[in-house]
Amino acid sequence: MKILVVNCGSSTLKYKLFEMEGERVLAWGMADRIGSAGSRIYHRVPGREEIVLDDPLPGHGEAAERILGLLTDAGRGVLGAAAEISAVGHRVVHGGEFFQQPVLVDDGVILTLEECSDLAPLHNPPNLTGIRVCRRLMPHAAQVAVFDTAFHQTMPEYACLYPIPYRYYKDFRVRKYGFHGTSHKYVSARAAEIAGSGSGDLKIITCHLGNGSSLCAVRGGRSVDTTMGFTPLAGLMMGTRCGDIDPSIIPYLAEKEGLTAGRVVEVLNKDSGALGISGISSDFRDLFRAAGEGNKRARLAIDMFVYRVAAGIGSLVPAIGGLDMLVFTAGIGENSPEIRREVCAYLTWLGVLLDDDRNSVRGAEAEISAPGSAVKVLVIPTDEEKMIARETALLLK
Ligand code: ADP
Repeated sequence: MKILVVNCGSSTLKYKLFEMEGERVLAWGMADRIGSAGSRIYHRVPGREEIVLDDPLPGHGEAAERILGLLTDAGRGVLGAAAEISAVGHRVVHGGEFFQQPVLVDDGVILTLEECSDLAPLHNPPNLTGIRVCRRLMPHAAQVAVFDTAFHQTMPEYACLYPIPYRYYKDFRVRKYGFHGTSHKYVSARAAEIAGSGSGDLKIITCHLGNGSSLCAVRGGRSVDTTMGFTPLAGLMMGTRCGDIDPSIIPYLAEKEGLTAGRVVEVLNKDSGALGISGISSDFRDLFRAAGEGNKRARLAIDMFVYRVAAGIGSLVPAIGGLDMLVFTAGIGENSPEIRREVCAYLTWLGVLLDDDRNSVRGAEAEISAPGSAVKVLVIPTDEEKMIARETALLLK
């Protein structure tokens, strides 16, 4: 069975085609700058050179048509016809409280997704565009929506409600939703697999540390709490996002700077976090370089990030009543031994003991804790596309 995974952003369309037998990747790529000048498609097939198409792409429909053209091209395609694609798995950011599982898309589901759009106005509308385009171009294929929020729908009420008037939850659905669910689910499931038999009640904290970062407390395979909230702005300090701050800062800054609340939130999303503190970059590779050259604010940004990750891990331990495994994933989690070492140095009281040699790993699965560590510490590269393909295949069964 062949499954196409699609992740539509406002000006991008990322895709990956899987042969589910052996979970082989047949092709992948992305359309970039859709709707503006300089639009392009980058298309890859394993073992072959990258193809770059410099075609004008006025909309996602044209991008998807070109991509299907590449996939079914007589000379260099990997499919005889688009009809070979059994299903399309769509990444959808927000499923609100409606979706705890992936869902087969029909007209009713589209209406519900439209309802969720005011909770994620930047993300859900392009996700929906992707679904509509693929329904039109691949009417034979099942369309499945897989949600970033779904994995966290198992959080208990006391963890996911905010202590504000209850009617804001009832009337406006204001609560913690959590994001990166597909990634947290994938790496926690893989960690349980590594732990082997008797993993039923495992207590795991997964650390998805990338441009966006979040932690998730997982017990017995279910998300019990997570650090992101009503939106992905909450929780940890991130590349350009502030994470948790005192909400009173928003009206205070609005008044001082003569900005609307909306504009302040934009600053908190785009000009804050590691970039805001360092004044240099949101990329931790740049920050380590600058810190090495003596830049104090770059060092401060790293220290703050590490402290907040460690404090976040500490705050989640009660949610699962202990800690068996700690998992690092995503750009920083997979590739930065320095960040992992500094975070774990805060956690010796939990019995976390790293092995420096093992911790030198980058971008590969590894156990990095020392033999005597009370907590097994792992690096597990995340694979959200593979997880979406798996969930799509599972739903069709
Ligand atoms: P996204 O959240 O956009 O998917 P990624 O998970 O790809 O992001 O993470 C990207 C981030 O990973 C970069 O901004 C960078 O800070 C970090 N990163 C990647 N490689 C390294 C490295 N070797 N050392 C430190 N940080 C790294």
